[in-house]
Amino acid sequence: MLQLINADLNSIWHPYTNTSKNNPLFLVTSASGVELHLGSGQTLIDGMSSWWAVIHGYNHPELNAAAKDQIDKMSHVMFGSLTHEPAINLTQKLLSLTSTDNQQDFARVFFSDSGSVSVEVAIKMAIQYWFAQGNSEKSKLLTIRNGYHGDTFAAMSVTDPENGMHSIFKGILTEHYFAEIPVYGENIEWHHEYLDSIRKQFEQHHKHIAAVILEPLVQGAGGMKFYDAEYLKQIKTLCDKYDVLLIFDEIATGFGRTGSLFAYQEAGVTPDILCLGKALTGGYMTLATTLASQKVVDGIHADDSGVLMHGPTFMANPLACAVAFKSLCLLEESNWQLKVRSINNQLLEELSPLADNPLVNEVRVKGAIGVVEMKKPVDFNWIVPRFVELGVWIRPFGKLVYIMPPYIIKPEQLSLLTQAIKTVISEMSNCND
Ligand SMILES: *Cc1c(COP(=O)(O)O)cnc(C)c1O
Repeated sequence: MLQLINADLNSIWHPYTNTSKNNPLFLVTSASGVELHLGSGQTLIDGMSSWWAVIHGYNHPELNAAAKDQIDKMSHVMFGSLTHEPAINLTQKLLSLTSTDNQQDFARVFFSDSGSVSVEVAIKMAIQYWFAQGNSEKSKLLTIRNGYHGDTFAAMSVTDPENGMHSIFKGILTEHYFAEIPVYGENIEWHHEYLDSIRKQFEQHHKHIAAVILEPLVQGAGGMKFYDAEYLKQIKTLCDKYDVLLIFDEIATGFGRTGSLFAYQEAGVTPDILCLGKALTGGYMTLATTLASQKVVDGIHADDSGVLMHGPTFMANPLACAVAFKSLCLLEESNWQLKVRSINNQLLEELSPLADNPLVNEVRVKGAIGVVEMKKPVDFNWIVPRFVELGVWIRPFGKLVYIMPPYIIKPEQLSLLTQAIKTVISEMSNCND
């Protein structure tokens, strides 16, 4: 096992990892349900869902069967001038899940291979939309701080410019407009002033703004911050007033995580363009989509060419589409609302007392997301192996110790996660004394 780990450490890059800093690394040999099985023989309860994705748990018999069935037919064919049932079935399912009162909120689906690319496509759609109306001035984006939209260049350019992830690219990225995030917390009421910063950007720059892009209600990797639905309602009004498209990036929030199937439905605000990814295939493989409203589709078609200028080689990979379709069927059959609600209640009950700890800044819970924000960044190289010793997989970043477990987690397994968080924080408190 050590040989394998050393082979990795000497030759593979991991996400946002400094290869010279001896960051912890663990070999996984298999996974099932909510458990990761390590090469050391240890079993860990997974608190991360492999980054929001594994909602039904690992090694799910029905998802395995969907992959196996499809692989015996074909793993992949090009999507240029060819089509297949897995893509068509998945599209119908996505369009029906994003319908309100039997009316489709979106008209067309674009398939891509990762969330970042689906954001690139959304941005391209918005710019092409205005271009096709003869307006090439509207080519900028407006967003709020603390967002995270992916690692490719256009996606980076709308991600928070200062919270560290991409600051070295500052001079190279396209400059867009950023507004302050609204103040939000359990006891903080909505105030009209929270809108001032973004309203100012609309007023000053609307002639150049193609679209607003936001993670609705919950910001993920940019800081795990939650905010009020009222903010989105007000922004929608501003978008209508100033002729600006609205893009929601629900790559993290989609498919039940916040307590509603999609956060836009909870907020009661339908965007023009919607990005989905992460949990789309139940965490089995990489697939993402960009959904466009009829208005956007018609707008792009108004141009002579009417061509959306994008087309990945592995577009609508049949294997990924077949698994995604099955995953969405499982979700519909699963009574996920009840599961997410009971995870929510348990997280509230078990994590909230930590708010009194002097090292803790705030505890936030929404849907099946639990966040303990510390006052200072945690010692990553200590905390991750310590969690592993305690039998859980929790991987904090910066000041954030957070979990978003698979929906199938049992109460006693979830308690192991929250107990582990309490244990490490109390150990940190002892060190501080
Ligand atoms: C993860 C994430 C992305 C990027 O998706 P990748 O599949 O990692 O490229 C974009 N937006 C949000 C909100 C995300 O959480």
